[in-house]
Amino acid sequence: MGAPVLFTHPSSLLHDTGAHPERAARLVAIERELERRPELVLDRRESPPAGRELLEAVHDPRYVAAIEAFCAAGGGSLDPDTVAVPASWGAALHAAGGTAALVDVLCSGEADCGFAIHRPPGHHAERATAMGFCLFDNIAVAAQRALDAHGLERVLVLDWDVHHGNGTNDIFHASDRVLFMSIHQWPLYPGTGLEDDEGAGPGLGFTVNVPVPGGSGDETFVSAVEHLAASLAREWGAQLVLVSAGYDAHLDDPLAGCHVTDAGFDAMVRIVRALAAEIDVPLGLVLEGGYDLDVVSRCVADALGILGSEPAMPEPVEMHPLVAAARTRLAQRWPALAQTPAGG
Ligand SMILES: [Zn+2]
Repeated sequence: MGAPVLFTHPSSLLHDTGAHPERAARLVAIERELERRPELVLDRRESPPAGRELLEAVHDPRYVAAIEAFCAAGGGSLDPDTVAVPASWGAALHAAGGTAALVDVLCSGEADCGFAIHRPPGHHAERATAMGFCLFDNIAVAAQRALDAHGLERVLVLDWDVHHGNGTNDIFHASDRVLFMSIHQWPLYPGTGLEDDEGAGPGLGFTVNVPVPGGSGDETFVSAVEHLAASLAREWGAQLVLVSAGYDAHLDDPLAGCHVTDAGFDAMVRIVRALAAEIDVPLGLVLEGGYDLDVVSRCVADALGILGSEPAMPEPVEMHPLVAAARTRLAQRWPALAQTPAGG
């Protein structure tokens, strides 16, 4: 077991959003926290820029060109939440490229786990729309890379950011090769992600949305990861697990109203780490939101520590009623979900 791979790039700091919760200080705080933990052994890599073909595998080419032109012309507001400056173009290229490069390292067997930490984040960016602080959907670019360049057929993308990952949901809506599962507060921005959105066409059943009420905490989120995401990964035979790791479901986050604690995030990382080891597939985490600097820096550093440790499934947690209901609802397509899991 080697050290976890960590992809970053200095251009992430140049995406200047002004007075905005999604700010460069988030990544500065993470780097400071990593310096405070010399026991963390990391395999650090510099993120390459994404080539056009990587972006255009999931985004409309006209949209990619429009973002480039918008940044080159000085930038401004793309929507009420999403701003860009000239340097945002380079930051966005390295964010998508670094996340895809993480998948390359994982799929080539060079490493079994890693984290891609960049700005701007990605999971709200749709095929042809920037929104929610996101320009390109980094994790979608990376998942598509796994299919196109590494011949994978089954990629699980788990999104535990407190907001629905509408971009990833949109991009893979009709795909049966990417199973997208999101747990998110609802109602909350962006307002999508109700449980009856289960994908379309050949992708029907491969979009799994688990909206949860404000105030939901560890007992809901950890249960959903253990009793739903892990069960789906096993039953489907996922070949790669990617996580849209946002930290804005934390109790102390200023943007949302969920109550996940540090221990809850640690447990979710432990579960996906142990799951990946159990089914013998690589695991990649991708930073999305998380706007309290102390929370995001602590929890990211914790995650890297867990990725660098021997995988161990934590003690089972009780199945939350919302998760039990989701299993019942999904059992028609995923028969294993009809069974009560051990320890459930
Ligand atoms: Zn978020």
